[in-house]
Amino acid sequence: MNLVLATRNAHKAREFADMLAPHTVVALPDDVVLPPEDGDTFAENALGKARAAAAATGQVAIADDSGIVSDALGGRPGVRSARFAGEDATDEENLAKLLREAPAGSALAYVCALAFVTPDGQEHVVEGRCTGTLASEPRGDGGFGYDPAFLPDDRDDDRTMAEITAEEKAAISHRGRAARALLDWLSRAG
Ligand code: IMP
Repeated sequence: MNLVLATRNAHKAREFADMLAPHTVVALPDDVVLPPEDGDTFAENALGKARAAAAATGQVAIADDSGIVSDALGGRPGVRSARFAGEDATDEENLAKLLREAPAGSALAYVCALAFVTPDGQEHVVEGRCTGTLASEPRGDGGFGYDPAFLPDDRDDDRTMAEITAEEKAAISHRGRAARALLDWLSRAG
């Protein structure tokens, strides 16, 4: 099945293309305008983008929204992960704020909502989660965002998400899990 991916992020597009094979991930046409990510939940934001892409292209569309939730911070930064330290904050500024506000060893989870929308209005949302704990200081230069301070529960070594390989990350990540959940649902939905 062809799936128009509602993102302008080339890195995400490549990642999803690999993870969703044998389906074909189609790039979003340049003239499609995506809504702002101002919902209260990851699912709401993902659905908004997928609906806009399906309506504009007349094709089946998917979109994701993701972020990190901290138990110690009552679930923040959540849907505001990209803007945690301010509207135009860099990954480094957001990560520094998390390390200042949450204690080392406290529980974290990466969450990814992945929405599927058809032009005739069928909608389905799957979610992938990857739990972990906050490292005492950032380590590693792989990945992006909060990865240097994220110690995944799924691994028993002491490497952060920024110290493991891209393949190791895809096997346990929120995006990898959401993609596999969508594949599973598509295969059952026929
Ligand atoms: P979005 O899905 O592009 O809106 O991602 C929102 C934000 O969540 C990113 O800017 C990162 O700060 C954070 N984030 C999402 N996925 C990851 C990840 O795999 N590693 C590190 N940070 C992530």
